[in-house]
Amino acid sequence: MTIFTKIVNGSGAVPSGRLLAFGMWLRNHQVLVRRLQWAVVGIYAILLIVPVLMPLPGLASHIWNNVTVFAQFVFWGIWWPGVLVSMLLFGRLWCGLLCPEGALTEFASRHGRGRAIPRWVRWPGWPFVAFVLTTVYGQMISVYQYPAPVLLILGGSTLGAMIVGYLYGRNKRVWCRYLCPVNGVFGVLAKLAPMHYGVDRAKWDLNAATHSHEHRFNCAPLVAVKNMESPSPCHMCGRCSGFHDAVALQSRSPNDEIVRLSGRTATIWDSLLIITGLMGVAIGAFEWSSSPWFVEIKQMLAMALVNHNIIWPLQATLPWWILTNYAALNDVLTVLDGAVLLGYIAATALVLSVLISIPLKLACRVTRSRGGQPFFHLSHALIPLAASGVILGLSAQTVTLLRADGFALAWVPMARLALLIAATTWSWWLGTSILVRKDGGAVQKVAASLLFALALVAPVYAWVLMFWIW
Ligand code: SF4
Repeated sequence: MTIFTKIVNGSGAVPSGRLLAFGMWLRNHQVLVRRLQWAVVGIYAILLIVPVLMPLPGLASHIWNNVTVFAQFVFWGIWWPGVLVSMLLFGRLWCGLLCPEGALTEFASRHGRGRAIPRWVRWPGWPFVAFVLTTVYGQMISVYQYPAPVLLILGGSTLGAMIVGYLYGRNKRVWCRYLCPVNGVFGVLAKLAPMHYGVDRAKWDLNAATHSHEHRFNCAPLVAVKNMESPSPCHMCGRCSGFHDAVALQSRSPNDEIVRLSGRTATIWDSLLIITGLMGVAIGAFEWSSSPWFVEIKQMLAMALVNHNIIWPLQATLPWWILTNYAALNDVLTVLDGAVLLGYIAATALVLSVLISIPLKLACRVTRSRGGQPFFHLSHALIPLAASGVILGLSAQTVTLLRADGFALAWVPMARLALLIAATTWSWWLGTSILVRKDGGAVQKVAASLLFALALVAPVYAWVLMFWIW
């Protein structure tokens, strides 16, 4: 295999020896990768099913002596934050190498009906809609706290992955490409990854005729590899590595895709996922339980209902799979609680979306960028802050669980502050880098950069409220 020496995709990245070799190693060890995936499927199944069969943990239960608390810590304290961080470091390597749902859907597809993918599955709004629905539903049934909701949400998603795999495609991951609730989030975060499978188009075309007997590869998540520019849909499985001597795992600038490529590729669904999903719905979902506003609104509504002699919303409860209902543990949400919860998340998403979008739109105006595309492009610059938010939110679970078990974590507030400052600065830098490439003089560009900075204020303040004020 030739080591490429030319610049690939105009990104300024040159395949480095070790990464390139790792990509080739992955291609040549797919059997090992598959065994690894089945091992993860086994661990995943144990963590998902065993806690449901056990009694709910009591006050004396700890990570080290109770399987339910242990599974809770592994899923929400290590697994999910770890997967999100891995997206930023390695792209979607998790999806291609370790994800149990990916392995199961591909397995089902290998032995399934192999039907054509219907149009409704290809709808580009699924990543946003599926993320919002799963996030909100998870809060309604307290997915971070109890094992049955975990089985319902994660197990339901896995079942969906297997059914879709069985029905559509052959040896493919149709679920992962179109319907997985975190596909959109993973794709967005992977845009910052400092590595990707770069494709040398000229070499591909040149070698296509002479390498006609070369091994064929199966790209399970249905990426058009020849034209691949972004690692967003790529599961980094390595199967295409070295194809036509034109595909190689290589390093790249983590800023390059957002500043340069997103100008062409960003869509309205990306903007909705980043602004309304990751910076709106997710913030509302993470902070409602610690918000004094939530309590005040609930009390206000309760008083109003009592004054009008409408008592049932304060007393009525629903089954646990609709709204949290664990009477034995004194943890029950009434219909009123549920309504305020939904209203709180919706209001947070709306207010943050407006407070972020208006300065972004004004920044586009100032640089005379018309139409939706410049706005969609600029919203990609928010990805570092959006990513740090979900990582901070999920790691709050890690901290809560560890503190409950007596670990002193005095360094955590400083670490959170450092991450928030770094992510905000990175987002501002990306936004400014996009804006300075637009039309207009220095004054307009400085004004646009300041407007972009203004868009960062509301989400940062929301995290400050949650971690330092409430
Ligand atoms: S493009 Fe497809 S085959 Fe190539 S590494 Fe990505 S997921 Fe694997």
